[in-house]
Amino acid sequence: MSIDGTTGILGIIGFPLSHTLSPLIQNAALEYLGLNIVYLPFEVNPTLLGEALKAIVTLNILGVNVTIPYKEEVAKYLDEWDEESRLIKAVNTIKNSNGRLLGFNTDSKGFLMALTESLEFHPRKKDILIVGAGGAARAVIVSLAKERAGSITIANRTVPKALKLISEFKEIFRETDFAALDLQEVKTGKFFKENRIDLLVNATSVGIKGETLGLPLKDLSNSTKILDLVYSPSRTPLVIEAQSYGLSSQDGSEMLIYQGALSFEIWTELKAPLFIMRKALKAKQEKDF
Ligand code: NAP
Repeated sequence: MSIDGTTGILGIIGFPLSHTLSPLIQNAALEYLGLNIVYLPFEVNPTLLGEALKAIVTLNILGVNVTIPYKEEVAKYLDEWDEESRLIKAVNTIKNSNGRLLGFNTDSKGFLMALTESLEFHPRKKDILIVGAGGAARAVIVSLAKERAGSITIANRTVPKALKLISEFKEIFRETDFAALDLQEVKTGKFFKENRIDLLVNATSVGIKGETLGLPLKDLSNSTKILDLVYSPSRTPLVIEAQSYGLSSQDGSEMLIYQGALSFEIWTELKAPLFIMRKALKAKQEKDF
């Protein structure tokens, strides 16, 4: 990659950023298409978020991804938000459009693309259990409810957070039944035995360090599909366990690729080379395995 006086800049803001794989997949795509643009990590100290957002315009940065812990907080610095980011109340992509900062959320569409195209699961009228009630769960709920899922049960360690999501979304998505559960209750196996679950989504951060959620997967019907949003390590504990019971499952790598591809398309207005992004991610995961 050669950098000159006309090289455009994209990037990611978050804190910390040591974990991010976005520079890897975005630079692979930029390089493949021969674009004179580089994608850089910008680790932003929490006290300087506003300054960092101003710098996007000052330094003529083309756009950025936003990751933990700023997806919600950045909203107040933007000029416009797309429908998805308004519903989710979080922004993961910013485009600098002639000095105006436009906010997008590609997590929910990225999730849906991974779900339908890679796991071949279509949510309409299906019964779904989401474990977790944080920012990623919000994106997943919006995505599934927009597709008219039959029911969404949210199980969380902190039950009031699940209840809060339900009270907010049940008013917006009236075709989907919502319920909240204590994660401990799911761990007993009773919920798995007594309810139909077409899809189980892990939207917690559990698994990143090799730890397990402790869900009794043996009690699930063998038609239940599992999508783990965790993508590192490449074969997550949940996916390994699901496979041991013969359940169809997928980690968060495909969602990572799709949400990144959608951000790429917002910034460049070009079709993202999915296979190159996938290849770069796989090579890294295999190296780290
Ligand atoms: P977040 O807002 O911090 O929420 C974290 C969630 O995990 C909360 O529901 C939290 O429960 C739960 N949790 C954390 N530790 C737990 C534990 N030991 N036992 C049970 N529950 C626990 O984080 P987020 O932004 O939603 O991200 C969640 C995960 O999704 C992360 O691993 C992130 O990397 C992944 N993600 C992946 C993609 C992708 O493209 N594949 C995109 C976005 C996010 P409490 O409410 O009880 O604290």
